[in-house]
Amino acid sequence: MVVRLYFPLLFLLISGTGLWAQNSRELPESQLRKADMEAHLRFLAADELQGRRTGEPGNNIAARYIAAQMEAYGLKPAPGAEGFYQTVAFEATTPPSEARLLIGKTEYEQDDGLLIMLGNAAGIKTEAVFANYGWADEKSGHDDYKGLDVKGKIVLVLPGTPEAQDPMAVFTSMGKKRKLAQSHGAVALIELYRLQFPWSFFRSFFNKENLSMADEGPEEASIVYGWLKEQKNSDMDNLQKGKKLKAELSSQGFARRAVPSQNVAGVIRGSDPKLRDEYVVITAHYDHVGTGKNGGGAYSAKDSIFNGSRDNAMGATALLAAARALSEQPPRRSVLVLAVTGEELGLLGSQYYAEHPLIPLEKTIFNLNTDGAGYNDVSYLSAIGFGRTGTDHLIEAGAHLFGLDVFPNPAPEQGLFDRSDNVSFAAKGIPAISISPGMTSFDEEIARYYHQVTDNPDTIDYDYLHKYCQAFARIARLIADEEERPRWAEGDKYEEAGKALYRE
Ligand SMILES: [Zn+2]
Repeated sequence: MVVRLYFPLLFLLISGTGLWAQNSRELPESQLRKADMEAHLRFLAADELQGRRTGEPGNNIAARYIAAQMEAYGLKPAPGAEGFYQTVAFEATTPPSEARLLIGKTEYEQDDGLLIMLGNAAGIKTEAVFANYGWADEKSGHDDYKGLDVKGKIVLVLPGTPEAQDPMAVFTSMGKKRKLAQSHGAVALIELYRLQFPWSFFRSFFNKENLSMADEGPEEASIVYGWLKEQKNSDMDNLQKGKKLKAELSSQGFARRAVPSQNVAGVIRGSDPKLRDEYVVITAHYDHVGTGKNGGGAYSAKDSIFNGSRDNAMGATALLAAARALSEQPPRRSVLVLAVTGEELGLLGSQYYAEHPLIPLEKTIFNLNTDGAGYNDVSYLSAIGFGRTGTDHLIEAGAHLFGLDVFPNPAPEQGLFDRSDNVSFAAKGIPAISISPGMTSFDEEIARYYHQVTDNPDTIDYDYLHKYCQAFARIARLIADEEERPRWAEGDKYEEAGKALYRE
């Protein structure tokens, strides 16, 4: 299913000849040395960094390394940051070791059809109430709690939201649903396990220490939260019909601890007095999944480190390459170089940034992200979000200059645009795309390394890394230099958010 690329002939003619091409060859990104790129990657993906898992020492060392490079290149700390760091507070929670839930006449035990993830409960005796999806939405006015008294009760709900029940929706709606139940006075929220994948996968994914964003403010979660796989002949049908059932809940052994991490940010001041108050934010996540069973894939005693050379030491290296080239000769607009943490936990570092921006979002005219599962064709650079922000000609120009072609929107079935940090900016209305190493489809070659212990630095094509970094830096420069700022294509799902953000 390789998509053949339409290569504009006109551009070939322009870029192949003339002064413009010669001048642009002298820009700092053309001078970036392969050995420097290789050194960055070999450091960031080294075994000693233990898979850069958020909140662990290897992750902090990677952050320190990136901050040190920013300092060496002469970047400036962003306003409101602590040096080159923006602290992001995470919380690690360990599910209760024991839990028991009785609903009507049916009893469930922790691990056996029941997975309480959060909260200790000391023998609560109350009623269970069914609350549809346990969802409310200000925009549409939908409210599953309308006319329902859940105070002091255990609330059971369907997974996801009324609009979406795909795994992503199920996962991302959990926090809001918990807070909704809590704000209505429930003592526990239990979601019914009606998902397509096996309960055993779900259980082993969540029944260990999990990291999430630390809840902010006083309404820190205190209710019990978990999932229930219904037994046959349970009373759930009656409950769904509105019948109230007696319920009992107890759990113990739940623990939580604070885990600080950080985004790393540095500013390059733009050269044009007219445009330098506008910012392009370039991003790459520097975290990965860690070691052993935390990695989520197969591992052995011989190799248990998920080095994340492709995902995303390549991107972090490209980010450093751009930081260096753009600081040596700044583009017209200012650039915020932002290495984010917590991506593998669900885009958490970039989401935190979008909620607590160091540069006002309305002054942020674009987000150029780099992330990737890997590459299977080194003649390409892949562009996720191609065709959506009016920057296609700039992406092509930057790639072509270093001998790469652009592969637009690979593996559409993977929904990649919504699976990396660019989406945290897009959701706020900021035109955003993600550049990935040359992937043409999510094939065996990609799967061989994606989130595997095999993603070692020795397997990287460093000639390709060099070109990729140069092209990324060049694309960032072209966007920051462009007279007109990028805009969402007409009808894009983020167009409205963009108009609201920039007051158009
Ligand atoms: Zn990943």
